[in-house]
Amino acid sequence: MNLASFFEPRSVAVVGASRQKGKVGHEIVANLLGGRFKGEIYPVNPKAAEIEGLRCYADLKSIGQIPDLAVIVVPAGAVADVIRQCAAVGVKQVIVISAGFKEVGEEGRKLEEELVQLVREAGIRMIGPNCLGLMVPGRKLNASFGGALPKAGQIGYISQSGALLAAILDTAKVNDIGFSVLVSIGNKADIDELDVINAFGNDNSTKVIAGYLEDIMHGDSFVRRAEQISRAKPILLMKSGGTGAGAKAASSHTGSLAGSETTYEVAFKRAGIIRCESIKTQFDYAQAFANQPLPTGPSVAVITNAGGPGIMAADAIERQGLTFAKLAEETIERLSAKLPPEANVNNPIDVLGDALPERYEFTLNAVLDDPNVNAILVLLTPQAMTDCTGTAEAIVKITSPQAEKPVLACFLGAKKVDKAIRVLRRGNIPQYDSPESAVTTLKVMNDYVRWRSRPKRVVRLFPVNRAKVEKIISRHLRLGQPEIGEVEAKEILEAYGFVTPKGTIATTAEQAADIAEQLGYPVVLKIWSPDILHKSDVGGVKVGLNSAQEVMDAFDLMMCRIPRKRPEVEILGVLVQEMCTTGREVILGMNRDPHFGPLLMFGMGGVMVEVLKDVAFYLAPLTAEEAKEMLLHTRTYQLLKGFRGEERVDIDAIAEGLQRLSQLVTEFPQIQEMDINPYVVGPEGVTPVAVDARITVAER
Ligand code: ADP
Ligand code: MG
Repeated sequence: MNLASFFEPRSVAVVGASRQKGKVGHEIVANLLGGRFKGEIYPVNPKAAEIEGLRCYADLKSIGQIPDLAVIVVPAGAVADVIRQCAAVGVKQVIVISAGFKEVGEEGRKLEEELVQLVREAGIRMIGPNCLGLMVPGRKLNASFGGALPKAGQIGYISQSGALLAAILDTAKVNDIGFSVLVSIGNKADIDELDVINAFGNDNSTKVIAGYLEDIMHGDSFVRRAEQISRAKPILLMKSGGTGAGAKAASSHTGSLAGSETTYEVAFKRAGIIRCESIKTQFDYAQAFANQPLPTGPSVAVITNAGGPGIMAADAIERQGLTFAKLAEETIERLSAKLPPEANVNNPIDVLGDALPERYEFTLNAVLDDPNVNAILVLLTPQAMTDCTGTAEAIVKITSPQAEKPVLACFLGAKKVDKAIRVLRRGNIPQYDSPESAVTTLKVMNDYVRWRSRPKRVVRLFPVNRAKVEKIISRHLRLGQPEIGEVEAKEILEAYGFVTPKGTIATTAEQAADIAEQLGYPVVLKIWSPDILHKSDVGGVKVGLNSAQEVMDAFDLMMCRIPRKRPEVEILGVLVQEMCTTGREVILGMNRDPHFGPLLMFGMGGVMVEVLKDVAFYLAPLTAEEAKEMLLHTRTYQLLKGFRGEERVDIDAIAEGLQRLSQLVTEFPQIQEMDINPYVVGPEGVTPVAVDARITVAER
């Protein structure tokens, strides 16, 4: 059974209903009644005969009917028993309002697990425990203790915090914002955020999905589903807290740079989810998405009755990267013919301080007709002659039921514009408290439109040697060696089409010199030990060796110094490697998030990576466009594309490296973390070289 049927029950039982005002068990009954729920309401409480004029039942069984929904408000310890009764009677949907579960510690966690087991066995779906309940304003269902129902609208809201939902309802009431559904998921022991966005995605009365989440459990499924839904409905989320993945001690550069915040950021980006920092911004965006059409381009026209706010809006448009619309000749002529000569007929159009509603109306109509304009912002300040309410009514009249372009209003002031703002809101014109927030909203709408119209994601698959990688990884796992050092990590990379420097292991100085002679100078010497992760930290890398003598000296020095510094490590020999003498060092990396999967990283390479933190992340699997976008997000990119006479490096080759890495970590879920550092990249046409690599694996 899916969550949608929760939204339309024909009968509701309230188990733990109470006669006593102020108790949650009373609130729920009162709210169901207060919301004018059309179906049956069955209060259940063995100690009462009647509650709020409704007949009260001793238990679920004595109702004699099977309620579509049971709202449970009994103390935590008694909930399991009520669920058993639900199972016995055949109730399939429950909301557990009661607190005292996972959120209070071990005892509560056990109780919660018991509930989950019971509902799974009985095929019952459960919202909660520890939640505020469910509201479906359009169906007059208020199965919550969140106060009165808000007005019906098109925003579906999900909240992981009941208290925050209370604040949201309050804000919505003042701002006349309507909802299709509000659901408080509490501890989300059964029904979780994935179920809810699925239900909202399928719900015809929901046009915009908004919510507050603290964590996301099935990250990869959530992202996949949200990505599909976002194409049809914008998803606006406030998100706090971390995945906990960042807290895990990471041994790779990528791991230590990829905090949980980063993961959410890239996951939201992939899914097209619009992240909101506050209730205010969330509603700023939500009301525009819910009530206005999407802009078809970035050009904004501003209509104002005062110069100052017009300039503020113009500045914001520039800051947000939108376009200041250049009005068509016809529009300018049309405006000049009618507006007073002192009026500014160019964008921002200044209709002057004495503008009455008709002047606003005329101007708005002209701008709505202008093909060069994609969105309109109407500003008003309450001056001596201003008819605020009349102007609001005019805007609503022109745009009803809906104009073809988004029209946003910013009536500045408080008391004098109060009534006008209510007119705007009732007329579905979003109102903003500053030109800046209105423009930011337009920017967010534009970004969404762009995201939605991006080409279908195509992930390129390279021919690779999977069997070879499988062999190396399973051997490491079998031997309980999670760290794969440079030599084998590079074999893995070669199997996935990376080029690595030639090199061989030497165990004596003479052997090292022989290998160097064969490779040709200069060469690099690197300590080879399964126990050393960062070789240069222990003096285990010597670059630029130009003769057999230098190689032998370097060999002896390493063999003498490193065991003294790190007596506990096992040294297997020294890698003699050809040296890359040209190119820039970048890092390609991966860190696997327990919920969202592999997170890829690109950044400025070498030892400075953790200091400069000039890195970009993205979720695997990666498309060519996304790989290039990652590069673009770093400051390093400016250097790579050629700076002050430096040659431009092969950007496409780096992007290809990222895609190959993406394929590797997608095909091998055992890979937990890895760094290719440095990845040495040269000018166009020169294949990049994976100079160093390390991989951490674990049983999946
Ligand atoms: P580690 O990261 O374990 O300290 P690396 O193999 O990355 O060891 O070597 C450290 C640094 O030495 C690299 O970042 C790079 O600047 C330089 N280096 C190592 N090997 C080569 C090579 N084959 N060619 C050019 N430079 C190298
Ligand atoms: Mg390195």
